[in-house]
Amino acid sequence: MGPKRASLLTSELGVETVGDLLRVYPFRYIDRTSITPIRNVRSDLAYVQIQATVVSSTLLGPGGSNHMAGGGPIELRAAKRLSVIVDDGTGQMEMVFFKGIKWNYERLKPGSAFLFFGKPSDFNGRLNMVHPEIDNPVIGGPDAKGTLTGVYPSTEKLKNAGITGKVMCKLQATALSACLPEVKETLPDYVLKENSLVPLTYALRNIHFPTDSYALQKSVRRLKFEELFFLQLSLLKQKYIQSRGSIGLPIVKVGAAFNACFNALPYELTGAQKRVIREIHGDMKSGHQMNRLLQGDVGSGKTMVAVLSALLAVDNGYQACIMAPTEVLAQQHYVNISKYLAPTGVRCALLTGSSTQKERREIHAGLEDGSIGIIVGTHALIEDNVQFHALGLAVIDEQHRFGVDQRAKLWSKGPDNIPPHVLVMTATPIPRTLAMTLYGDLDVSVIDELPPGRKPVKTAMISDAKKPAVYKFMREQIAKGRQVFVVYPLIFESEKMDLNNLEMGYEEILKRFPDPDYKVAIVHGQQTSEVKNFNMSAFVAGRANILVSTTVIEVGVDVPNASVMVIESAQRFGLSQLHQLRGRVGRGADESYCVLVHDFKTSAEAKKRLELMCSTNDGFEIAEEDMKMRGPGDLEGTQQSGLPIKLSIASLAKDGLMLNEARAYADKVLSADPKLELPVNKLLADGLREGKYDIKDYSKIS
Ligand code: ADP
Ligand code: MG
Repeated sequence: MGPKRASLLTSELGVETVGDLLRVYPFRYIDRTSITPIRNVRSDLAYVQIQATVVSSTLLGPGGSNHMAGGGPIELRAAKRLSVIVDDGTGQMEMVFFKGIKWNYERLKPGSAFLFFGKPSDFNGRLNMVHPEIDNPVIGGPDAKGTLTGVYPSTEKLKNAGITGKVMCKLQATALSACLPEVKETLPDYVLKENSLVPLTYALRNIHFPTDSYALQKSVRRLKFEELFFLQLSLLKQKYIQSRGSIGLPIVKVGAAFNACFNALPYELTGAQKRVIREIHGDMKSGHQMNRLLQGDVGSGKTMVAVLSALLAVDNGYQACIMAPTEVLAQQHYVNISKYLAPTGVRCALLTGSSTQKERREIHAGLEDGSIGIIVGTHALIEDNVQFHALGLAVIDEQHRFGVDQRAKLWSKGPDNIPPHVLVMTATPIPRTLAMTLYGDLDVSVIDELPPGRKPVKTAMISDAKKPAVYKFMREQIAKGRQVFVVYPLIFESEKMDLNNLEMGYEEILKRFPDPDYKVAIVHGQQTSEVKNFNMSAFVAGRANILVSTTVIEVGVDVPNASVMVIESAQRFGLSQLHQLRGRVGRGADESYCVLVHDFKTSAEAKKRLELMCSTNDGFEIAEEDMKMRGPGDLEGTQQSGLPIKLSIASLAKDGLMLNEARAYADKVLSADPKLELPVNKLLADGLREGKYDIKDYSKIS
C-alpha cells in the first residue's frame, strides 16, 4: 500500500503494522442469507437488511417534515436533508440522510440497487431508515451458501481516500496470506485447552473471513476472551504483588472504642452496612493488606461504615485517616464524625489547607505521638509531610478516580514499612463489570440498601411547552417554605450558546418570580469563586428561594430544605449526571420532586433515558442501563464511549459473563504463579509487558 494510505490507516485506526491491521476486526457481518423484504419490515424490528433499487432521490431544505409533505426540492449546497425512496418489488421505504448528503446523493442514483442495513422507524406513519449503512447489492439474490462478509470500522477520511469496505477486505486477505504463518500465539497451550479456545491463527482467519457462523462464533469467543483475560491479568497481577503479597497490619479484635460508638448509635445499622463492616473487618484481620472499594448510593450511610472501620483500627493500637475531595466536605465529615466519637473518648482532628500554622504544628505532633486516633482532611493529607505514629487505615471518600498510583503513595505511610489498609468509597454507581475492570485490583463491597424511611424522589418528565405548570408547582412549594434548584446544561463552560441559555433562563425566572416576593440566586462556572460562594451560601442559608445554576452543584451541596430539582434540557444530560443531580434533593423529611424538562428535539433514545429516571431511584439500576444504552452502537464501531481502556472486540456492557469467566481464570493462573515467572506462562508475561492493557488515564472514568 502507498505511504499516503498507510499513514491514513495509522492516524484513523491506529494501524502501524500488518499485525495491527489483522487486529482491526469487522464489527458486523453481512449475512447474505438474511435479506428482509420491505413488505415484512416493521418499525419495531431491531435491525434489518434490505436490498432495493433507488426510485427517487430528493434534496430538501430545513423546512417540511417529510418528503411528501412539502419543503420542496432544493439545490445541493443548501440541502439539509436527503430523502431517498427505494423499492424492492414488495414495497417501498424512505432512506433519510442529514449528513453525508452530497456523497450519498451522488452514489444513490435512481435505478441502481444497494444493500441497506439499519434500524427501521416509523415517521408519521411511513417506514424509514435514518443513516442506513450501505453496501453493494448481492448479485443474483441471497447466497444460499451463506457467506458472511465483514464490515470494518471506517471513517469519512478513509472512505474519501478510497479505503472502502471492499478495499479493507482485500487488504485483510493480502495480510492474512502474507503473514498468518508468522503470527505468534499469545496464549499458552494449557490456557487454550482449559478454556476450549481456538488457536490465534484460526481465530484471525475466521474473524475476517468466516467459513461459517460456527467458526465465527468460536473465533469471536477466543479473541474476546484473550482481551478480557489479559485485562484482568494485568489488574490482578498488581493486586497479587501489592496486596496478597504484602503483609497487612493485624486488626483483629473488636474493642472498647468500637463498642462504645456502636452502642450509642441513634439508629440500627442497615443489613448492608453490617455486611460491609464484616467484609472490611475480615480483610483487616486476614494478615494481608486490604484494598477495597465501597460503593453505595447517595445517602446509603457510608460515613458510619468509615467511622466504625476506623475505630477497629484504633482498638488495635493504630490510627486512621479519613479523606474527602473538598474542604467543605472534610469539614462536614469532621463535625459529624466528632459527634459519633464523643462516647468513645478517641481524639479526632481536622487538617485542611486552611488550618493555621499553630493548629498544624499541634496536629502533626498529635499524629506523631499517636494521641490523635482519627484525622479527617482533604486528599492533600497524603501529600502533606505528615508522619503517623502507626497509620492502620486510610479511608478515601467520594473518590472513584483515585488511581493505583495515588493509592500507592499511601503505602509508605504505614508503620515498619507495612502499608495501611485502604478503603475507597464512592457514591458514583459504576456497573459491576466496569468496576471490576477499572478496579480489578480492588475488592468491591456494595451498600445496596438505603436506611429505612427514605422517600424516593418523585420524578416526572414534561415538555417545555408546559413550563407554566412547572412554575405554578414551584410557587406552591416555595409557599410551603421549600427551596428549588433549576439546573441548565453547561457541558462546555466556554460554549456561548449554553451560557446564553442559562442567562435567558435566569431572566425568565426573574420575570416569573419577581423581587421582593421571591429571591433568586445564580451560580455558574464563569463567576469568580467569591461571587459563586456568596450566591451559593445565600441559597444554603435559605435567603434565596431559587438557585439557578449549571451542573456546578452536582457534588457537595447539602440543602435539606430544597425539595424540588428542575432540570432544563434534561435530554442533554447523561443518566449518571441526572442521577447525581436528583440526589441533591430528597435529603430532608419532606416529599421531594425532580422535574425533567425536555424540548421537541428530544430523540427517542433520550426519551428512554428520561423515562428510566422516572421509573427508578436506584443508582445501580440506572448505571447498568446507562452502560447498556451507550455501550455499543457508537459511530461505525470505532469507539467505546467514556472508557479509559480501548477494547477492540469485547464489550464491557455485553460481555459481563465472559468478563467474570476471564477474571476467575486470571485469578487461578496468578494464584499458581503470582509473578508469571514459570516457563509455561512466558507468553502471558510477554503479553503484559506490551502495556496494552494498562489503565493510563483515570480521569476519563466518570
Ligand atoms: P453517604 O453514603 O451518602 O455518605 P451518609 O453517611 O452521609 O451517606 O448518611 C446519610 C444520612 O443517613 C446521615 O444523616 C446518616 O446519619 C444517616 N444514616 C446512616 N446510616 C443510617 C441508618 N442505618 N439508619 C438511619 N439513618 C442512617
Ligand atoms: Mg458521604
